Amino acid sequence: ARSENCPPDVEQLGRATWTFLHTTAAYYPEKPTPNQRANMLTLIRSLPVLYPCTHCASDFGEEVKKSPPDVSGRVGLSRWLCERHNEVNEKLGKSKFNCAVEKLDERWKDGPDDGSCD
Ligand code: FAD
Repeated sequence: ARSENCPPDVEQLGRATWTFLHTTAAYYPEKPTPNQRANMLTLIRSLPVLYPCTHCASDFGEEVKKSPPDVSGRVGLSRWLCERHNEVNEKLGKSKFNCAVEKLDERWKDGPDDGSCD
């Protein structure tokens, strides 16, 4: 088995990156300042340039061109990101995630009502 201390493979890097992006979107303000919006746009637009899986980065860049980031507030951003992640899921033959804000908040911010993540 591959040790925990090995450099991340494409799957581990992907999980860690999605965790960061979805969590950051879940806590993004409802009404971001112009500075927060500009920085979020920069963060998203940096991925096609810097993400260290070259084919992942270039495909993501194409998707971002087709669907410009919605940085207007946390609900729009969370949904936009969910849709982009679903495009990758589809490409990889993984199942799609329900992009309703309730589902996204449960997964990335609040946890389920049964308290199993408290
Ligand atoms: P992941 O897809 O990593 O998802 C982690 C968790 O997020 C899931 O368990 C689920 O609870 C939740 N989730 C799933 N879908 C959504 C959604 N739509 N919205 C919100 N939450 C969701 N891998 C490749 O092999 N080829 C690629 O071209 C490629 N491109 C990528 C581009 C980007 C920008 C990123 C960040 C990753 C990319 N990856 C790519 C990695 C790939 O998306 C997965 O991260 C990796 O295959 C591990 O998948 P996983 O099944 O562990 O779950």
